[in-house]
Amino acid sequence: MDLFEYQGKQYFSQFGIPVSPGGAADTVDEAVAVADKAGYPVVVKAQVKVGGRGKAGGIKLADNADEVRLHAGNILGMDIKGHIVHHLWIERSSDIKKEYYASFTLDRPNKTHLGMLSAEGGVEIEEVAARNPDAISMISIDPVRGLDLETARRWVVEANLDEVAREQAAVLLVQLYECYTKGDCDLAEINPLILTTEDKVHALDAKVTLDENASFRHPEWEAFRATETEDPREKMAKEKGLNYIGLDGTVGIIANGAGLAMSTLDVVNQVGGTAANFLDIGGGANADVMAAAMEVINSDPKVKAIFVNIFGGITRVDEVAKGVLEALSRVNISAPIVLRLDGTNAVEGRAILADHLNDRLITEPTMLDAARRAVGLANA
Ligand code: GDP
Ligand code: MG
Repeated sequence: MDLFEYQGKQYFSQFGIPVSPGGAADTVDEAVAVADKAGYPVVVKAQVKVGGRGKAGGIKLADNADEVRLHAGNILGMDIKGHIVHHLWIERSSDIKKEYYASFTLDRPNKTHLGMLSAEGGVEIEEVAARNPDAISMISIDPVRGLDLETARRWVVEANLDEVAREQAAVLLVQLYECYTKGDCDLAEINPLILTTEDKVHALDAKVTLDENASFRHPEWEAFRATETEDPREKMAKEKGLNYIGLDGTVGIIANGAGLAMSTLDVVNQVGGTAANFLDIGGGANADVMAAAMEVINSDPKVKAIFVNIFGGITRVDEVAKGVLEALSRVNISAPIVLRLDGTNAVEGRAILADHLNDRLITEPTMLDAARRAVGLANA
């Protein structure tokens, strides 16, 4: 789950990371009230879960209440890269001397944590990486040992942070690491991490992604979830208890088992198609689950063909076949369906479907044949 900047800053504060005083607002009047309290000048910041808000006009300085009114009015409702602004964060403006970059994320191939620090922050880190990769100092952190202050002190020197910023930055990096690990983040990023004209180091922005697998440890995350604008397809799938992830392609995919679902995505790609989703209906899925899966996929207007790839083990293919018919009787499925049915009770399953097959309900003998057929229909 990605957090808004203001939520990320709340999260940071819990670990002692300094941020500017401010508050959230959903209306122009609230924005003025928050600004009055924070003290002028303030920055009015669009809260959308996408970077580059500054360039898009979603971040404005305001010297007084009238200017807050003007900017808040303009920014609320603004479309930033397809995200509509519903929330603002207003904070006391900082006088910036330097902009740095700091982050922690998982280094999956190395099974360690990856820390990145740069004296050239404020711009996208990918841009720095392309232009001047030496300007990013990376460290690999053993998750058992963690990050201690001594290591952080060497790291800030290595990254060439200004001398006056070093001790504060080292302390802050240890706090950010604590936030990242104890706070169960997949990503904790500060860009820019600033040095102010008063030589204070603090977080001017916050990008936090929480690891949903750890949500059982964090009942307090409910508050973040309340403001989440979920993909409507994923929301519907969750309500139906399905293991679904929305993607951008045109072939809707239903498979049993995460491994087969992933292989199905691969095969669809291999034959020139793009998957609209990942959907694992799990082991032992019955007709109801199958019908629910078809309904979720049908709600996605980008889907041009549906590929049902079932290898029955615990899942019985006759149940899947009944589910397909059940779904067809319940909802008007707009895309053609290609089925590959194998495994437990495959013969019974195919028999159930035999009388219903037509050019919108097709079976193919193998996974590859079915993928080709589905992709052909989707690309037609
Ligand atoms: P992003 O563009 O979405 O990453 O938003 P940021 O919060 O990182 O802000 C973008 C840029 O706006 C920063 O790099 C700063 O240059 C500027 N900015 C943000 N807050 C302040 C502030 O308090 N004072 C000043 N002078 N500039 C700010
Ligand atoms: Mg930023």
